[in-house]
Amino acid sequence: ENYHMVLAENRRLYNEVQDLKGNIRVYVRIRPFLPGQNKKQTTIEYIGENGELVVVNPSKQGKDSHRLFKFNKVFGPSATQEEVFLDTQPLIRSVLDGFNVCIFAYGQTGSGKTYTMTGPNASSKQDWGVNYRALNDLFHISQNRRSSFIYEVGVQMVEIYNEQVRDLLSSDAVPDASMHPVKSTTNVLELMKIGLMNRAVGATALNERSSRSHSVLTVHVRGTDMETSAALRGSLHLVDLAGSERVDRSEATGDRLKEAQHINKSLSALGDVIFALAQKSSHVPYRNSKLTQVLQSSLGGQAKTLMFVQLNPDVDSHSETLSTLKFAERVSGVELGAARSNK
Ligand code: ADP
Repeated sequence: ENYHMVLAENRRLYNEVQDLKGNIRVYVRIRPFLPGQNKKQTTIEYIGENGELVVVNPSKQGKDSHRLFKFNKVFGPSATQEEVFLDTQPLIRSVLDGFNVCIFAYGQTGSGKTYTMTGPNASSKQDWGVNYRALNDLFHISQNRRSSFIYEVGVQMVEIYNEQVRDLLSSDAVPDASMHPVKSTTNVLELMKIGLMNRAVGATALNERSSRSHSVLTVHVRGTDMETSAALRGSLHLVDLAGSERVDRSEATGDRLKEAQHINKSLSALGDVIFALAQKSSHVPYRNSKLTQVLQSSLGGQAKTLMFVQLNPDVDSHSETLSTLKFAERVSGVELGAARSNK
């Protein structure tokens, strides 16, 4: 393949940039064409084993038609929930060691964010997304450590819509989201069911709100060392972001326009925060959106961040795919530019 030359050329540059990087990992996941969906041409031309991805714009010719990206990992359409989680697992473990971890899913509506984070079916273990698997793992590991540590786990679940934070697990109006102690994966499944139901209640038929709000599941862990009584605290934020698609300004009016503006604002605020962290900037602008305020403790400092970048393979999504990948590239701090094709 011609791309191998391009890749070799870019590898040296990439390694240099990697050294400057903070703790921000970017995993790309491309969802399959859906059953019944007319398998049109795909915009994903090449997936490498080391996180390389070549996106092609079939309506263009020459060197402008191809673009090479490089991330920590790229999962193709046949990747299973289990495979995706395998590469996420070490982060979950570090929550029990007292780290703050933030895992996001970013991408346009319909690209598989909820599939990755929650999964299509809570009652089938195989289908479980990162959320259930992460909590299941937390309980398993804490069980294994029970001779030396006692862990307490609590969860919160909120939705951020138009810069308002709504508690999905309680209707009481309190300044902070309610905290719910959990002892098992079953507890978590029950709570998340309630949360997901409450989330749907806010939606109207015309306006599928879940794609226009961010949902944040926060897991707080407190571990007590049985010998020394020393306590450690870790947290895990699991975030299903609002759809990143650009709303056509000429089309959107009223509520839609307002929603779109809020989404743009919060996603760019998130990008700015992660960008500032990646650049090791002295000022990190957390205060610019509710989303970044809610996530502040798990972004920056010793915190570890993982962003799932979700892509729809359809050629019609080409421009959204490209802007999604450019956002991801910016926050990961690695810019490779146009892929030179010798075609
Ligand atoms: P989003 O949350 O980004 O709006 P969804 O997670 O709802 O997108 O995914 C859109 C559709 O694609 C759903 O029907 C979902 O089940 C399906 N889907 C997404 N990712 C996958 C995947 N990896 N394998 C199979 N189906 C998927």
